[in-house]
Amino acid sequence: MGVRIHKLANELGLDSKELIEILQDLGEEVDSHMNTVSKETAEMVTDMVFEEEETTKDIIEVEDDITVKELAEKIDIAPNSLMAELINLGIMATINQELDFETVEEIAAEYGYQVKSIEVDSDDEEDVFGLVNNIEDDPNDLELRPPVITVMGHVDHGKTTLLDAIRKSNVTAGEAGGITQHIGAYQVEVNDEKITFLDTPGHEAFTEMRARGAQATDLAVLVVAADDGIMPQTVEAINHAQAADVPIIVAINKIDKPNAQPDRVKQELTQHGLVVEEWGGDTISVPVSALKQENLDELLEMILLTAEMQELKANPNRPANGVIVEAELDRGRGPVATMLVKNGTLNVGDPIVAGLAYGRVRAMIDDHGDRIEKAGPATPVEVLGLSDVPSAGDPMEVLEDDQQVRKIAEKRQDQRRVEKLERKAAVSLDDLFDQI
Ligand code: GDP
Ligand code: MG
Repeated sequence: MGVRIHKLANELGLDSKELIEILQDLGEEVDSHMNTVSKETAEMVTDMVFEEEETTKDIIEVEDDITVKELAEKIDIAPNSLMAELINLGIMATINQELDFETVEEIAAEYGYQVKSIEVDSDDEEDVFGLVNNIEDDPNDLELRPPVITVMGHVDHGKTTLLDAIRKSNVTAGEAGGITQHIGAYQVEVNDEKITFLDTPGHEAFTEMRARGAQATDLAVLVVAADDGIMPQTVEAINHAQAADVPIIVAINKIDKPNAQPDRVKQELTQHGLVVEEWGGDTISVPVSALKQENLDELLEMILLTAEMQELKANPNRPANGVIVEAELDRGRGPVATMLVKNGTLNVGDPIVAGLAYGRVRAMIDDHGDRIEKAGPATPVEVLGLSDVPSAGDPMEVLEDDQQVRKIAEKRQDQRRVEKLERKAAVSLDDLFDQI
């Protein structure tokens, strides 16, 4: 038995979203099924939150490579004033110069701050595994792109049926027979506008992607069965979406069932901070039957409407980057990766790195099984040509040439090897102590 997250959050004066973020930062396990944490974890977080409240006021956290500019920001003075202060201490520093800890402490004390040094050892890792080409786009280069949707909800509430129904209602008759194979993502067209659906296997993938900074979803469709109501995984889905700051549209499913109670669902939603529009809130809910394919048009329209307000944009005229949705080793074709292009355009022939894998895009296949040459923002696509099978959630990107993608992938492989060795070493030391 654990402690309920939303109850614990209440006690701490946080919302569930904040609490989950804290837990994730701490690397603590959140039980995905029960939406609980262990008692130990709950106690630790409680201690932490209350301790922080007492003392945070005048403490600034400082990394050991803090520069003049960064320190000035932290203690809220102009960089020039700080440089003048430093001269008083006999230090001639430029704005981007790093400061040693003692100097930082001395300056901070003058302005009434205490300094806490924080380690940045996880930085290396993030650098190695993150995007290489992270240049922001000029706003003038941005164009509207389709929204990317994740369908979430409790098991058996109808996620798969809904995804299938949306896809089926959207393909032409000739195609319908052909779409039996599972795909990790697909796109549909409604009133000439595209919507991309990610068929992520459960919340794990969603959380995993987010934890790696690869947030891929713009909008969550929360499926709640009208005959069953809010269940533990429904709450978990709400928490994840809120933690990721992703808007939620509720699909109240199975309204064809005689024992469906849509109003009860709405009532229960309010207990989790989601008040539907007709009750004065701002949560959109749509009653649907995935099985009977009822009211799916309205759901899709609501998705488009919400997406429109988000003004989702990307720059199609830059080298692509995105995220791996799923990947496997195919006997005949080698590593096959389904990826979502988030920004830029991916072309056949592009040199690409995805997690620890690299290569050139040998061929691309869209969600209808057709070969394509180009894939723009928010397009899901199957890619052949990688050296290896990447993991779901891995970032992918196009770089300059074969050498560069290979170099980056090899650096990551080395880092992964080091981590593995470190883990092994830690384990064998434990063994050693056990034996003593
Ligand atoms: P998932 O676990 O959320 O993916 O749920 P599934 O899509 O596998 O659906 C679970 C069960 O509910 C299946 O037997 C579906 O046929 C059934 N189901 C899904 N949607 C509806 C619906 O709108 N009405 C009814 N009556 N049954 C549904
Ligand atoms: Mg399913």
